[in-house]
Amino acid sequence: MKSRLILSLTSVLSIWMAGCGPVGNPSQDGKLNVVATVSPITNIIYNIGGENINISGIVPEGVNSHTFEPAPSDARKLADADLIFANGLDLEDPTLDLARANLREGAEIVVLGEQTIGPDEYVYDFSFPKEVGSPNPHLWPNPIFALRYAEITRDTLVRRDPANADYYKENYDKFKDRIDTLDEAIKATINSIPENHRKLLTYHDSFAYFAPRYGMTVIGAIQPSDFAEPSAKDVADLITQIRDEKVPAVFGSEVFPSPVLEQIAKESGAKYVSDLRDDDLPGAPGEDKHSYFGLIVEDVRIMAETLGGNPALIADFDVSNVPGKDQAVEQNQ
Ligand SMILES: [Zn+2]
Repeated sequence: MKSRLILSLTSVLSIWMAGCGPVGNPSQDGKLNVVATVSPITNIIYNIGGENINISGIVPEGVNSHTFEPAPSDARKLADADLIFANGLDLEDPTLDLARANLREGAEIVVLGEQTIGPDEYVYDFSFPKEVGSPNPHLWPNPIFALRYAEITRDTLVRRDPANADYYKENYDKFKDRIDTLDEAIKATINSIPENHRKLLTYHDSFAYFAPRYGMTVIGAIQPSDFAEPSAKDVADLITQIRDEKVPAVFGSEVFPSPVLEQIAKESGAKYVSDLRDDDLPGAPGEDKHSYFGLIVEDVRIMAETLGGNPALIADFDVSNVPGKDQAVEQNQ
């Protein structure tokens, strides 16, 4: 009699739970399971959550995050997550679709970009034209927007895990101090570049929100909105523009090696630099420079070096993560 009652209670319970959507596996260690998309965002969340959260990054470093399709194994991670952080602004639509389809009871998706700027601040440009409909999603190369991402992360973690609230707040305060110093270091470094050289012509269009803060002009980007190679006419026009505006250098990206860019540089006489990055952290997991700070410092150092500024003004910046080395982050590679 007793065992029959237990049996029927169990089945009622499982039917009730099934009615609430996927249940997933809460972590065994009592920590929040946090999943993020691109590595700079994963890293910002690690800087606030440290080892008090389980954190996993879905988009492998060095792949095109704009066209990334999550693997079936990522569905499991998303189903087990308490919190899923994404940039939004149409950067990770396939991952967000998979997250929504697998979201378990009580879990939430936090979209950072839309909580950072409003539609009146969206930038539409070369690679993200208004007629296609998606704004340039690269907010994080602007450290002030990255700080807002950290603030949203802090508030979310404090709400979901109040027992560790002080820890998250302390990490945020340290992260903010470092961002403030970084912002000053970037200003000084960019100001050391001769004014008529403060121009960015990049292959991948990821400095739309960085450039205006530091008095740089994005004069163009080469990658079309469908992420294919530019047409022969586009290439010819760019070569003319580079010569006319005396652009000193064209910048390629780690993630998008492009023979076209090399050709443009050769024919226009501009210097070709291949290693700016927007979502591939420098170094390897566990190294100090494998951090959001490392990413920005590396880009600014390269810009200064190439455009005639003083890279020493930022070279010694402390790029380490606030909670220490990041080997606890489970990053798809
Ligand atoms: Zn990008």
